[in-house]
Amino acid sequence: QPAPSKPQEAVKAPPSPPLPRQNTKTAPPSPPKVITDKSRSLNYHRVGFLGEGGFARVYEVKDVRGTRLACKVVTKNSLKTKKAKTKLYAEIKIHRALEHPNVVRFQDCFEDDQNVYMTLELCPSGSLMDMLRRRRRFTEPEARYFMVQLIGACHYMHTHQVIHRDLKLGNLFLDINMNIKVGDFGLAALIESPGERKKTICGTPNYIAPEVLFDTVNGHSFEVDTWSVGVILYTLIIGRPPFQTKDVKTIYKRIRDNEYEFPTDREVSPDARELVQHILTPDPQQRPTLHEIVDHAFFTDGIVPGLIPMSAHDSVPDFR
Ligand code: ADP
Repeated sequence: QPAPSKPQEAVKAPPSPPLPRQNTKTAPPSPPKVITDKSRSLNYHRVGFLGEGGFARVYEVKDVRGTRLACKVVTKNSLKTKKAKTKLYAEIKIHRALEHPNVVRFQDCFEDDQNVYMTLELCPSGSLMDMLRRRRRFTEPEARYFMVQLIGACHYMHTHQVIHRDLKLGNLFLDINMNIKVGDFGLAALIESPGERKKTICGTPNYIAPEVLFDTVNGHSFEVDTWSVGVILYTLIIGRPPFQTKDVKTIYKRIRDNEYEFPTDREVSPDARELVQHILTPDPQQRPTLHEIVDHAFFTDGIVPGLIPMSAHDSVPDFR
């Protein structure tokens, strides 16, 4: 059986297709043990390290009441260019406006001399990528459960004019009740007028829609998230992304040619196959809407569990 995919770094690159970012910089100094929001006279105690992404490090903190939160820390050193500042302000502006049960809640942001801090809802159970590594793949009922929540969050973002542009298992966090929380709005874009198209090539190689890579004339819009939703569905039930190969150029070639298959040694329901194929339609205008996706037989004719037990982190749950 193929191993689940390695995480891919999100990329944001100029005209040529993006290549994974290399993290060559040395680690910045740790933020203070007590992080202070001077403007509101609030203290947060740093209690642990949660992870790091392209430009931020994320810590677990406790506020004065003992409530645990995540705190995303960006060093001011990394914000010297106007471009870097604009990008962070865009992330904050977009994320703080969103409020949905399946989106990581943005609480506050503030700064000191060294860093910019964002306090976020804590997702202590890791991401779906971590869980997939332990489980190798999910059952179709579990996939339906996660997909319904993801599609709900996606629909909410789109009706608020936000394209996430980096939906992938590593950005789908879990709370203690196994609810999905979409996080990392670092590549998100706001559509400010109807019909506006985006032209920046960005995303994570395995999950990038073909129009992002190959239609730089017309640009792209909300349908790029729908594409990623299709890649996520395939990945949940098969255990690795559909276009995955060792080198990024070959991934892009496969995306261009819509070249992927379902492994023959795996039982995949005809409904699941059909839905994946439907979502991974190269022409964004022909791709199904989120409503059409949840109306598909894969969802309407199959079990959608009301909840998933914690034990599912490590073993197949019994839904009978
Ligand atoms: P970047 O924008 O730099 O890619 P991310 O937002 O992806 O940063 O966060 C980096 C890592 O920090 C994540 O992969 C995850 O491990 C951890 N993390 C981020 N947000 C949270 C959160 N709300 N709760 C728990 N862990 C988080």
